Order: sequence, then structure tokens, then C-alpha cells
Amino acid sequence: MKTKDFIGPEFKKQLAQILKHIDESIDRLYYIATHDEKTGLYNYAFFKNIASMEIEKAKRGKPLSLILADIDFFKKLNDKYGHVVGDIILEKVARVLAKHVRKSDIVTRYGGEEFLVLLPNTTLARAVKVAERLRKKIKSYSGLKKYAITMSFGVTEFKKHDTLTKLIKRADKALYKAKKRGRDRVVAS
Ligand code: GH3
Ligand code: MG
Ligand code: MG
Repeated sequence: MKTKDFIGPEFKKQLAQILKHIDESIDRLYYIATHDEKTGLYNYAFFKNIASMEIEKAKRGKPLSLILADIDFFKKLNDKYGHVVGDIILEKVARVLAKHVRKSDIVTRYGGEEFLVLLPNTTLARAVKVAERLRKKIKSYSGLKKYAITMSFGVTEFKKHDTLTKLIKRADKALYKAKKRGRDRVVAS
């Protein structure tokens, strides 16, 4: 007699349930490992994995761009409305950013009130247009109107010999210029 002959329908049902639970737990763990808890966006660990794959493609000639976006004067908002409202603002900003990019773009919470958007197959000129669209959408979004939120954006494109660190540093420099020039704007580098 073989082992499977001992397995009755009830046992098979239980086994199927256990496997379903394991499957759901793996999905849940994968979600936790790859997403930012507060905003539901991808986290930086996930971003790094995708970015290193996209950088390999960019080395073979595909365009790749990066946007670094930062909420203007967020500290003042926290001070005025409190951290709980600050968190709600972060969630809303995240939703607006994610809604207005392509599905293939990776919107990530970089930390605090800073977000990275990786745009595979996208030139600098196109990425600047995307950032400009995001800037306008954030400013005009009705759910944020009472807080008068604006954001500044630094945009850059992959260049030969870039590493992820270099790419982020260049986007950060552009963002710094956007802040210095008065915020609520997009600067490319
Ligand atoms: P700037 O226009 O130059 O970017 O000014 P800023 O005030 O936005 O920048 P700053 O770096 O001075 O302050 C960032 C603030 O973001 C400070 C910190 O309290 C707040 N912050 C960071 N992470 C969170 C968070 O998860 N929740 C909330 N509510 N606030 C956060
Ligand atoms: Mg910041
Ligand atoms: Mg800020």
C-alpha cells in the first residue's frame, strides 16, 4: 500500500488549507519586506534591487531617469498641525505621486518627507515633464489644499559609469538647487 492511499479527503482538505495559509503568509511577508509601512509605497530596500537591475539595462543603452522629491517646509506643517496630521499628509502625498506615474515607474519613500521615483526607459526631458506634472498635481490636489502643500523636485538621468549612489547624489544636488531657488519647482541636473 502506498502513502497516498492513507490520505483521505478530510486530510487533503486540511493540507490544502495549511498550504493556503503558508502562501498567504509568504505574500504578507513579501509585502512587509518591500513596502514602507506609513505610506504603502515601495521601501528603499526594494528600490535598490530594482535600481541595480535597471542600471544594468541603462549601461547597455536604455535611458533611465530618477526624480528626488521633497515636501517643502514639512517641519512647519508638523509644528502647526501635529505629527498625526503630518503622517496623513505623507500618505496623501504618496498616493498622489503613485497615481500620476506609469505602472513601470518605482515610487519609493526614501525617508522622512522625501521620495524617489525611478523611471525606466525614460529620458531626462521626459522625466522633467513627469516631475512637473507631479508638482502641479500635488499643489492642486483637493485633499491637500487646506495645508497649501508644495514640493521641490531634483531630476537626473543615468550617465555612463554612474552608480546608484552617484545618480542619487546628482538628483539631490538638483533638489538642493530647487530649494535654493525658492522651492515649488523642478530642477534638472
Ligand atoms: P525644506 O523645505 O527645506 O525641505 O524644509 P523641511 O521642513 O521640509 O525640511 P526639514 O528637513 O527641516 O524637516 C523635515 C521634517 O520632516 C522634520 C521631521 O519632523 C519631519 N518628518 C520626517 N519623517 C516624518 C514622518 O514620518 N512623519 C511626520 N509627521 N513627520 C516626519
Ligand atoms: Mg527633506
Ligand atoms: Mg522638506
